[in-house]
Amino acid sequence: PAPESCEAALQWIAARQGKFDHFIDGDWTKPQSKKWFESRNPATGEPLAKIAAGNTKDVDAAVAAARKAQKGWSALGGPARARFLYALARAIQRNARLLAVLETLDNGKPVRETRDIDIPLVARHFYHHAGWAQLQEQEFAEFEPMGVIGQIIPWNFPLLMLAWKIASAIAAGNTVILKPAEYTSLTALCFAEICKDVGLPAGVVNIVTGDGKTGEALVKHPDIDKIAFTGSTDVGRRIRSVTAGSGKHLTLELGGKSPFIVFEDADLDSAVEGVVDAIWFNQGQVCCAGSRLLLQEGIAERMIAKLQKRMETLRVGDPLDKSIDMGAIVDPVQLETITSLVGKGAEEGGIVWQPECKLPTAGCFYPPTLISNVAPAATVAQAEIFGPVIVSMTFRTPDEAVAIANNTRYGLAASVWSENINLALDIAPKLDCGVVWINSTNQFDAACGFGGNRESGYGREGGHEGMMEVLKPNFLSKLQ
Ligand code: NAD
Repeated sequence: PAPESCEAALQWIAARQGKFDHFIDGDWTKPQSKKWFESRNPATGEPLAKIAAGNTKDVDAAVAAARKAQKGWSALGGPARARFLYALARAIQRNARLLAVLETLDNGKPVRETRDIDIPLVARHFYHHAGWAQLQEQEFAEFEPMGVIGQIIPWNFPLLMLAWKIASAIAAGNTVILKPAEYTSLTALCFAEICKDVGLPAGVVNIVTGDGKTGEALVKHPDIDKIAFTGSTDVGRRIRSVTAGSGKHLTLELGGKSPFIVFEDADLDSAVEGVVDAIWFNQGQVCCAGSRLLLQEGIAERMIAKLQKRMETLRVGDPLDKSIDMGAIVDPVQLETITSLVGKGAEEGGIVWQPECKLPTAGCFYPPTLISNVAPAATVAQAEIFGPVIVSMTFRTPDEAVAIANNTRYGLAASVWSENINLALDIAPKLDCGVVWINSTNQFDAACGFGGNRESGYGREGGHEGMMEVLKPNFLSKLQ
């Protein structure tokens, strides 16, 4: 197939002079810092756009706008808010191609994924939460919105993480200030334009761009009722300490090191395809990526051989090329982290294997990588690599598999592969994590609460559980 054209997306950027301000109180607002930073295309290294660098004054203005809008937005009632969410969902579908290509240019992920997975799921989140808004007065009669929510998201699924945060919050009657990750702000800014187009009341959604300092200004703002954060465990820890004693509600969706457990009776060919999805989807930059391959001894060699054969067929290249399997890593710093962790894996006795794979010469690319013979305590078996690297180890018994699987500080997700459903169902509840997939992986749905245990954070996004995170009890409403 011919590569996806990026002409319309580049024109969309050019029509805005390649320079983007904050979106505050329903309109574009120049940064008070008078500074913009550059966002680059990681697949080419070329500059894409200039993005406003937010400071505390920008955050103040956005919080004030959100506060001013909140009571009126809540008072509109669920069914009226639902109409806005349906309108947003439909507008996302109308702009799906533009959003998919913008995401690919900004993040480096294959357009096949942004077009077929990210953007359809974004629309689905708004449709689903429009349904909750419609039902709110019956389903959550004794609850009220939390108020003003500050939301901070990472770069790996820029628009999808935005949808996870914004759809439930505004459906419930909250207003929000969202800060996208500094590498990937463009689709959030396009979404701001969509909010304007559908006539969403001013101040309900505010987008303030910038780096960690802008995020921290939001976290520290005294007039915020809740912070919803998705990102690394280290920044999550910092946010927890900064908000301690403030009375702010907090949800944290953090890192992971998820086990992918293959038993001897598994369908190995399906398991190999599962691994491809678990660790090479989005170049492995997925919080719940199956990054630790636990193989039962009897099939370990056979599984590795099959996997290596499959890895030889994976193509890494231009993310706009619809036939490639993997695109670019988001940023040179992330690429360096991956490279050095793989080096550490070899130093600690792991066997590093990569297929012969032609990588583009410009941009940030890394081949699919398998590190076998890894000890469960090795750095690469414990640290989140957040790249296309899977480490493998072996186990003998189901109990040993559970012990190795639970032996990290994380607890986000796990995947269990066996043709014996009794065995799989026996293992699943013993895994200390938020999600367990059986004979599948990386399945998400707007109706299903997603989140982690232990250092993968707390709180859930999606479905009824996700709605409970943006509401607070108001038993007095019963008396009215
Ligand atoms: P990161 O923690 O470096 O940054 C995340 C966001 O926090 C960015 O917007 C950043 O600007 C902001 N930030 C940085 N310092 C801050 C501070 N002191 N105060 C407030 N905000 C601050 O993470 P990343 O590198 O962008 O994303 C990768 C991480 O996100 C991985 O660890 C991944 O596992 C995790 N993640 C988790 C989930 C989940 O649902 N559990 C989903 C996606 C990604």
